[in-house]
Amino acid sequence: MINFQYLRANTSKAAIAAITKNKNSKFIAGGTNLVDLMKRGVTSPEKLVDINLLPLKQIEMIQDMIHIGAMATNADVAAHQLIKAHLPVLSMALSAGASPQLRNVATVGGNMMQRTRCGYFYDTEMPCNKRQPGTGCGALQGYSRMHAIFGASESCIAVHPSDMCVALAILDATVVLAGSKGERKLKFTDFHRLPGSTPEKDNNLKADEMIIRLEIPVNKVNQQSNYVKVRDRASYAFALVSVASSLNVTDNKITEARIAMGGVAHKPWRLAEVEAFLVGKSPNPEVFAAAATLAVKNARTYKDNGFKVKLSSNTIIEALKGV
Ligand code: SF4
Repeated sequence: MINFQYLRANTSKAAIAAITKNKNSKFIAGGTNLVDLMKRGVTSPEKLVDINLLPLKQIEMIQDMIHIGAMATNADVAAHQLIKAHLPVLSMALSAGASPQLRNVATVGGNMMQRTRCGYFYDTEMPCNKRQPGTGCGALQGYSRMHAIFGASESCIAVHPSDMCVALAILDATVVLAGSKGERKLKFTDFHRLPGSTPEKDNNLKADEMIIRLEIPVNKVNQQSNYVKVRDRASYAFALVSVASSLNVTDNKITEARIAMGGVAHKPWRLAEVEAFLVGKSPNPEVFAAAATLAVKNARTYKDNGFKVKLSSNTIIEALKGV
C-alpha cells in the first residue's frame, strides 16, 4: 500500500495549480487505468487531484463543430444522438472498447491518457523502458503477440490500447488543452507519440496541462465512416487489429479517404499513402485489396506477431467495404 495525498478540484484552474505544485501528482477521473497502475506499483503518485467535479461533460454542437468535454464518459458519448448521427465511427469505436461497466465511468480524457497494456510494463520484476527508462525492453526478446508492426523502435514495441483514439485519428479532431500559461490547441493526430528513444512519454501533453475538450468538424466524410475491431473474444478485449475508415464517393469515384489502424503501433496509425492511393479510384473489391496490400508493405514483425500483417490487410478491406 502506498500513501498519497488526495484532493478534489472544483475548477480547471485549481486542478492545474494543484498539479503544478507537485511534479509527482496525477489527475484522477474514472481511474479505470490509473488505479490498476497504482495497485501494481507501476506508478506511485504522491498526490491525486480528483477532477470529477469539473464542468467538462458537455456534448454539444457549436457552429458545425461537435465539442466533447474531457469528462464526458465513454458510454455517454457513444450513445449520444449527435455522435451517432454525425460521427458514427466514434460511437462504434467507443462501444467496441472495454465493458459496459468501464465505459460508464471511463472518460474521454482518461481514454486518451491510458497506458499501454504490454504485460512487461505491468510486471515490475521485468525490464521495461517505458516504466523505467534505460532498463531494456522485455517484449523485444519475450512474448510479442500483442505488439506493434508499425512505428516501433529498439526501445519499445508497445501499442496504444484505445479504440476511441483510432476513430478520432480520422475525424480531423482538435484537442483543447489548458495549462498554467493558458489554453492551446493541438491536432489530435499530434497528441500521441511514437516511442523513439523516449518511450516513457506517451503523448505531447506538458506536465502542467490538462485535456479540456475535443472539437470535431461535422462534415460528409466524418459521417460516412466505419470501425472494425478484431479481438480474441467478442467483448472486453483489446484490439489485435482495428481499422477506422471513412470515404467520400461522388459519381462512383472516391474523392476523399481516411484510414487509421489500432493495435499495430504506439499511437493510432494513420495511413496517408493508402488514402492518397484511393482518391480518384472506384470503390470496388480490387481497389480495396490493392489498398490493403499497400498498407502493410512496411510492416515489421517480431517473434509472435507475424499474423498481424495478413489480419491488418483483411481488416482494412472489411472496414472499407462497410463504409
Ligand atoms: Fe516496456 Fe515498451 Fe518493451 Fe513493453 S514494449 S516492455 S512497454 S519498453
